[in-house]
Amino acid sequence: MAELGKLDYSAEVSYAPVGAPEETVKQIDNAVLTRLKDSTRAEMDCQVCYAIFLDPITTACGHTFCRTCIQRVLDHSDLCPICRRRLSIQPQAASDRVPSNERLVKIINGLWADQVALRAHAYRIEQQANYNGFDIPLFICTLSFPHMPTFLHVFEPRYRLMIRRAMEGSRTFGMVLHTPSSNPGEPEFAEIGTLLRIINIEYFADGRSLLETRGISRFRVTRHGEQDGYVVANIKRIDDISLAEEEAVEAYETARYAARNLASRTDTAGPDPGDPERPASARSPPAPISLDDLDAMSTRDLVDFAVDFVTRMRTRSVSWLLPRIIAIYGECPSDPVLFPWWFASLLPVKEDEKYRLMSTTSVRRRMKICCRWIIEWEASRWLVS
Ligand SMILES: [Zn+2]
Ligand SMILES: [Zn+2]
Repeated sequence: MAELGKLDYSAEVSYAPVGAPEETVKQIDNAVLTRLKDSTRAEMDCQVCYAIFLDPITTACGHTFCRTCIQRVLDHSDLCPICRRRLSIQPQAASDRVPSNERLVKIINGLWADQVALRAHAYRIEQQANYNGFDIPLFICTLSFPHMPTFLHVFEPRYRLMIRRAMEGSRTFGMVLHTPSSNPGEPEFAEIGTLLRIINIEYFADGRSLLETRGISRFRVTRHGEQDGYVVANIKRIDDISLAEEEAVEAYETARYAARNLASRTDTAGPDPGDPERPASARSPPAPISLDDLDAMSTRDLVDFAVDFVTRMRTRSVSWLLPRIIAIYGECPSDPVLFPWWFASLLPVKEDEKYRLMSTTSVRRRMKICCRWIIEWEASRWLVS
């Protein structure tokens, strides 16, 4: 009637809204949005981890991956996992150099905030998982010592991953000596190692890196397993005995030696232990004649003897005491706590000899090992010349 113009203006008409009620409209809108989300959601999955993108970055070839996923890809190859084109991304894919795909971040945060939060949470758990329930990851390579620097060239994919994780966390990892084993079941590394802290890291364009580390403490591996190709371990810290115990050992050993010498005393006198009345700096360090004599010497005398040896060797310009070596390891320390580690870092003796220091729990014991090396070194020099 209204269309025909026959509806009288004053006619009593009530209008009712056509179509569905407001509630139903909302339901339809939600259904459309859900369908839209469902159809695009699959596009927001990383093709490496098959989970929703976490900090997505897009490659020059147009493919998108989680930053952590592309980092792991780059450990092994520089090709895109989808199209195999060369990736022109710097190997560590750091966020300051390779920006995130901001548009994508906004979309996934807007549409799937809950899933993104879950994914980020899972990643954090993964990072904090404490290496699958183990204490530290192990770098199986060389012998490192506490207080001393160790330089490492990292090129194996598994160690690239390990070092990156260490850099994201505590910056520490364990170093253990590689010990090839013929038995397939046996671990291929030494039982005792050194916890290292990363001081500096330099990346090369191809993903390799150069690490500068410093030894923190020694540990014994109590249990080990594997994670993503590298070894992880539970460790027990190796500490030295207390200073009081240290002094007791020193007193016991020197007294025992003196008593034994007195019992077997003949006309020939034992080695001169130095005049205790004169200050230590004024007397020359007593030189031990045999390994047995080391017991008679105070720890201070052992250090003086060893430092004197280093001084004499330096005047001869031996290759292991060249200025460039000293520049790396520092000047010869006169502190008995530091000396053995410094000495072992420089002196060219076999690794299994140096490894003897690792299980020791007293400064005096380590100083005696160093002095034994000196005695043997001088004896062999004597024979050679
Ligand atoms: Zn991923
Ligand atoms: Zn690609």
